[in-house]
Amino acid sequence: MSATLIDGKAFAAKVRERIAGHVARLDEAHGLVPGLAVVLVGADPASEVYVRAKGKQTVEVGMASFEHRLAAETSEADLLALIRRLNADPKVHGILVQLPLPAHLNSDLVINAIDPAKDVDGFHISNVGLLNTGQRAMVPCTPLGCLMMLRDHLGGLAGLEAVVVGRSNIVGKPMAQLLLGESCTVTIAHSRTRNLAEVCQRADILVAAVGRAEMIPGDWVKPGATVIDVGINRIAEGDRTRLVGDVHFGTAVRVAGAITPVPGGVGPMTIACLLANTLTAACRANGLPEPDGLTA
Ligand code: NDP
Repeated sequence: MSATLIDGKAFAAKVRERIAGHVARLDEAHGLVPGLAVVLVGADPASEVYVRAKGKQTVEVGMASFEHRLAAETSEADLLALIRRLNADPKVHGILVQLPLPAHLNSDLVINAIDPAKDVDGFHISNVGLLNTGQRAMVPCTPLGCLMMLRDHLGGLAGLEAVVVGRSNIVGKPMAQLLLGESCTVTIAHSRTRNLAEVCQRADILVAAVGRAEMIPGDWVKPGATVIDVGINRIAEGDRTRLVGDVHFGTAVRVAGAITPVPGGVGPMTIACLLANTLTAACRANGLPEPDGLTA
């Protein structure tokens, strides 16, 4: 038996299509063009790739993209001044500061300077607090994408045992909060968890967000479980490299009911959800109804 593949690439394309339709209607009915500002400090090669992809996809769905590329030695005062300008700019509905920032900049300070209503990454402490208290928040993109795929695949999630491996602020913790919001019974595992294999084996929904190549083998997966593999790890294979997840796909696919591949699973959904959050922020800022199914 082999698990159903949850095709994140195809799902993300559908999400972008729905966003593009909504964006066109907003422009037609209200002359409103959602705008996303992306701030990149320095020239980290991986960040460059992400920022380019974000800009391209933003324009493709009909939104305005504003890129701000700053030198690596930019001062905190200058970066904060730019954020204040973007906060005040009515054409900008979403602001994303690409992480990691150079070491001399305090990421928490910078992120918390963003207007929470424009914080499309969902990392501002106000949004974290709103999510954790079950109020309307901007939700971090990667966990939001995982939730959308889970809802699409499983329908209702209430009562299911969910195990999230990883407790980062970016993925693990918000993922666990979202699953709790769906009335799952949630366990968060991490590097100090005892008997991780047993903990994983009770999961109807297993989310792996660790950053260790193929560390979860198939015999840690409950038969029929839905496995969401957030991990993106580059491993050497001869003179090439290959992307793998945190789950050992070859063995897990024989046990799980459904599984996201790496690449082509969670990854493509992250940018789609960034666009969804920008659209949501633009609707909220203008007192317009939010698009269905694109928020938590
Ligand atoms: P972090 O490094 O911030 O967090 C990793 C978590 O895994 C920590 O909570 C850590 O525990 C836990 N962990 C580490 N080793 C073990 C272990 N042996 N057993 C159990 N838990 C362990 O990573 P992120 O959350 O930022 O990212 C996780 C993965 O997801 C990475 O591969 C990253 O590249 C990928 N990612 C993918 C995205 C996408 O768009 N698809 C977006 C964001 C991330 P502890 O807290 O105890 O140290």
